[in-house]
Amino acid sequence: MAPTLALPITAHTALVGVLGDPVRHSLSPVMHNAALTELGLDWIYLALPTPSDQLEAVTQGLAAIGCRGLNVTIPHKQAVARLCRQLTPLAERVGAVNTLVPLEGGGWLGTNTDVEGFLAPLRGSEWRGKRAVVLGCGGSARAVVAALVELGCGEILLAGRRPETLRAFEAPCQVWAPQLKTVDWSELNSQLAAAALVVNCTPVGMASGSDPMASRQSPLSPGQLDQLPTTATVYDLIYVPRPTALLAAAAARGCRTIDGLEMLVQQGAAALRLWSGLLEVPVTAMRTAAEAALAAQSA
Ligand code: NAP
Repeated sequence: MAPTLALPITAHTALVGVLGDPVRHSLSPVMHNAALTELGLDWIYLALPTPSDQLEAVTQGLAAIGCRGLNVTIPHKQAVARLCRQLTPLAERVGAVNTLVPLEGGGWLGTNTDVEGFLAPLRGSEWRGKRAVVLGCGGSARAVVAALVELGCGEILLAGRRPETLRAFEAPCQVWAPQLKTVDWSELNSQLAAAALVVNCTPVGMASGSDPMASRQSPLSPGQLDQLPTTATVYDLIYVPRPTALLAAAAARGCRTIDGLEMLVQQGAAALRLWSGLLEVPVTAMRTAAEAALAAQSA
């Protein structure tokens, strides 16, 4: 259930929001408005559907009217980088922006809080020198590789199904991710037995309104799952359904599993810290609101 807003919307209420297309499914409004309510901030967070051909006009217009901050989601994470007055070194490395922070004098600073969100559930374990296997080489895989470098993983094997996409992914990462190696999907079998961490960055297994069978799919076959050591952690960026078929099978094997909800909550919390300047934001309220919205969706 959506939280009751503590403050009335007045002529002073400031705007924050998320740009995407589509964006009506986003959990960010319930999550952020729960946090704003708990903080007593006179801001409102809205989902702002933004077609690609309007992205420049929308970002410029929102900067001009004093918008306090924006999240950016599919399909604009790459395109919006070109519209920013400044990028953080992390956003440049990842090649994608998911958070815009207003700059003094106008325009936006583009950054990427997906990296911090992804890392949050992995903190507290030792990953230095270990092997990570990443499935998929799209937008989120870039943030994941940057995070795995930060964790000190010794080998990062990235599997994709198209050689040209793998090559295009690998080339700009050579400088800052020397431990990254790309492999064809068919080569995965021989690589999984030594994996400490497997991360699904494909949409395979995500629930789909148009395909009732979609949520039964797993990016790893039963045979591939059998290769995994029971000490491995399996991390799926998907959070609908909970658990995904991949995580259910990995848990049955005895592996530690993590789904994408905590990443979503933590990237949102990191964005809110940047916009508000607060060191602490109500992460528990954000998580509770997101979980409640998901439960309501699946009821
Ligand atoms: P994306 O840019 O579209 O990339 C998807 C990748 O998966 C591509 O490399 C694609 O390969 C590959 N792929 C698609 N279908 C495949 C299949 N059947 N077999 C093998 N590979 C396949 O998407 P994204 O932005 O990286 O997002 C990926 C997933 O992560 C989505 O489910 C998204 O919802 C989730 N996500 C979650 C969070 C979070 O906060 N939890 C954040 C970001 C993303 P091709 O190029 O060959 O098609």
